[in-house]
Amino acid sequence: MFLEPNSIVISVVVPCYNEELNLDSLFERLVKVLDTLNLQYEIVCVNDGSRDNTLKHLIEYHHRNPVIKVVNFSRNFGKEIALTAGIEYATGDAIIPIDADLQDPPELIGELIEKWREGYDVVYCKRRSRQGETWLKKITANAFYRVIQKMTSVEIPRDTGDFRLMDRRVVEALKQLPETHRFMKGLFAWVGFKQSFIEYDRLPRFQGTTKWNYWKLWNFALEGITSFSSLPLKIWSYLGLFISLLAFLYGSFLIVRTLILGIDVPGYASLMVAILFLGGIQLLTLGIIGEYLGRVHDEVKKRPLYIVRDCYGFDSVYHEIKVVNSK
Ligand code: UDP
Ligand code: MG
Repeated sequence: MFLEPNSIVISVVVPCYNEELNLDSLFERLVKVLDTLNLQYEIVCVNDGSRDNTLKHLIEYHHRNPVIKVVNFSRNFGKEIALTAGIEYATGDAIIPIDADLQDPPELIGELIEKWREGYDVVYCKRRSRQGETWLKKITANAFYRVIQKMTSVEIPRDTGDFRLMDRRVVEALKQLPETHRFMKGLFAWVGFKQSFIEYDRLPRFQGTTKWNYWKLWNFALEGITSFSSLPLKIWSYLGLFISLLAFLYGSFLIVRTLILGIDVPGYASLMVAILFLGGIQLLTLGIIGEYLGRVHDEVKKRPLYIVRDCYGFDSVYHEIKVVNSK
C-alpha cells in the first residue's frame, strides 16, 4: 500500500528504548484505536539505540503493517532527541507523540482529535493522578514545576508529559528551533498557539523499567531551567551588590571602632568567615556560569541532533538523502 506523504492525517510518534516487552500491546491497542477513526495514519517509531530486540520487532511489525514506520538511530541519543526525530519524519496533519510503555493510554487519541477538530492547535493531556510513582518523585516533580514557573515567562503546563496532539503548524514552528539542548516540554510551550487540554489518569509502566533515575531527573531539571531562564546567571550581581554593601558597612564600622578604641585583637574569626563565605559563593557562581557556558559550547558546535543508521517505510527523497549522509 503506497500512501501519498501529505494524505496522512494523523502521525503517532513513539520513541522506543528497550521496549520489546511493550510493543505487542502497544501496537495492538494503538492500531485498534486508530482503525476506528477512519483516517489515514502512520506510526513513526524511533528506535533510540535499544540494546534488546526492539529494533527486530519493529522491523517485523513494519513488514506486517506498513503504516508502522521505523527510524533507527545509530546509538542512544535520549528521549527528547528521539522525539525530535520522530516529529521531523512524521508527515501527518496532526502529530501525537506517545510513550511506548503504555503510560499514556492510546484510547485518548479520539478525544484529542475531537478537540483538534474544534480548532485547537495543541491539545495536551494533563495528568489527574500519577499512579505507580513514589512520593519522592511526586514531590520533586511538583517542586520543579513551581521553581521553573517562577523563573521563566514561558508558561509550561504542569503535570503534562509529551503525550499531546500538535497541528502541523505547531510542528513546523518546532522544527525551526535548532537548539541542541532540547527541553521539549518548554519548547512545546514556547511556540505558543491555541492550546487546550484533556485530563487523564497516568497509569504505571506496563512492562520493563523506567530509564530515569534521580541523577537523570536532576539533569533534566537543569536542562529545563537553563534553557528557559537566565535568572541563575543574573542573581549573582544582586547578591554581589548586597554583600558589597554589607562589607562596606562593616568596614566603616571597623574604621570607626579602630579610631575610637585603638587597635583590637586580630580578627581571625571574622576574616575566616568572610573568606570562606565569599569563596563558597564564588565557586557556586563559577559553577552556574559553567552550566551555561557548557551549553553554549554545545550549541556553537552545531552538531546534528542525531544520526540515523537506517529507516523503514519512508519513501521521500529527503529522508533517503539523510540516511545516505549519515552513513
Ligand atoms: N526513551 C527513549 N530514549 C531514552 C529513554 C527513554 O526513547 O533514552 C523512551 C522510552 O522508550 C519511552 C519514553 O521514552 O517510550 C518514556 O520513557 P520512560 O517510560 O523510561 O520515562 P518515564 O515514563 O519514566 O518518564
Ligand atoms: Mg514511562
